[in-house]
Amino acid sequence: MRPLQFLILTLSFTNLLLATSVNVVAQNQAVKPPNLIVIMTDDLGYADVGFNGCVDIPTPHIDSIANSGVKFTNAYVSYSVCGPSRAGFITGRYSQRFGFERNPQYLPSDPNMGLPLSETTLAEALGKTGYRCGVVGKWHLGAHQNHHPLNRGFHEFYGHLGGGHRYLPEDLTLEDSAAASSENESYRTLILNDRTPVKTSKYLTDEFSDAAVRFVEKNKEQSFFLFLSYNAPHLPLQATPKYLERFNEIKNPKRKTYAAMVSAVDDGVGQLLETLKENNLEQDTLLFFLSDNGGPTTKNASRNNPLRGNKGDVWEGGFRVPFAARWPAKFPKGSVYDLPVSSLDIFATIAALSSVKLDEQRPLDGVNLVPYVRGEIQTPPHNAIYLRKFDQQRYAIRRGDYKHVVPVKGGKSQLYNLKNDIGETKNLALQEPDTLAELEALRKTWSAELIDPIFLGLIHLPSFQKKQTRKTPEKTGQKK
Ligand code: CA
Repeated sequence: MRPLQFLILTLSFTNLLLATSVNVVAQNQAVKPPNLIVIMTDDLGYADVGFNGCVDIPTPHIDSIANSGVKFTNAYVSYSVCGPSRAGFITGRYSQRFGFERNPQYLPSDPNMGLPLSETTLAEALGKTGYRCGVVGKWHLGAHQNHHPLNRGFHEFYGHLGGGHRYLPEDLTLEDSAAASSENESYRTLILNDRTPVKTSKYLTDEFSDAAVRFVEKNKEQSFFLFLSYNAPHLPLQATPKYLERFNEIKNPKRKTYAAMVSAVDDGVGQLLETLKENNLEQDTLLFFLSDNGGPTTKNASRNNPLRGNKGDVWEGGFRVPFAARWPAKFPKGSVYDLPVSSLDIFATIAALSSVKLDEQRPLDGVNLVPYVRGEIQTPPHNAIYLRKFDQQRYAIRRGDYKHVVPVKGGKSQLYNLKNDIGETKNLALQEPDTLAELEALRKTWSAELIDPIFLGLIHLPSFQKKQTRKTPEKTGQKK
């Protein structure tokens, strides 16, 4: 080989190497998965955010998620109360498949009372690909050490293990979370920083907002998943003057306090969004906002209108929730998506965007929402959306515009066309028997895949049953 030929060959080879390495870098940059933030509120009504038409509680920061991203008008959670809904979200699977179908009792001594260890959490899945995972706020997936967030894939935890919490720092007096022997007592435990109880000084919602900001600041150099799980505006209704003073024109004291609690969440969302902006993380962060179930309207003065029903129901007000997502790099700004989607889709979406290895034995029930939101796929993301409430043998199946409801155990099947009748007022079961039969067939096929609940729930506690016994005569009109 002549020297010139050798030089040309060497240069070509070097160029090839350079080009290849540039391509690899470009590809890595192109496929770098986004950060994931999921902001989940607790018992927030469908109608209690500005982007769903709320007028008496301004939520500008929450609305900005929908305005700069996508508002989902037909978004469902997988259950109409807290625990099972969260178990669905965190596994991407209907929790009725693995027996988490009741709100767990607060029992730190019971390793069976929580999310089965056989299931994979979103944090476990993302953690394996290098994400740093943190949860701030309410856990409610088991109070036993086996179920502690740090044993379920999260690297950081700042929050409480039970289903709710008191908000004022002076109310948090019980140091040892494991010593709480009832649901009520669990509401008074100190907040856990990982596993260490800490004395807090602020209104709890503000504590959680601060912790969320700290998590992002600390982990901004790497891919992260933050589950910001506000316990607000779940009972007890408690707010500070700073937030209450914003709502002096609301005369109903319950609604006023509820509004103050929602407003505190909105401030926190604003802080978090500002942190993303300051750190130039907006483009690379996929963010979801939702409620874990519908509003319990009589308890916390939330509103689900125009939907029928409340938290706990198989009506729309039970499990159709405020839901918005933002990803400036990929999602169209200010768009509205009307086809039914599910909180289970969050897992499937981030799994498709990252290198998560899925468990073939435990297939996800959600879908990657990205091509749907971007208009690349026009067909519905789901064949149907399902809900079963085992203890009451209630069901709901949504497909297209239609919804099939089994409202009570042994009750007659009902059929509604939600497009024309969002309030579920006109039962079409007799007029449209073929549609009803199709949806009933879907219900049977799906429910055959489920198992019975694996632990007793809050509803089995004597204190709960006493309350129900007191309520029943009023409801039925019978004498005591
Ligand atoms: Ca809830």
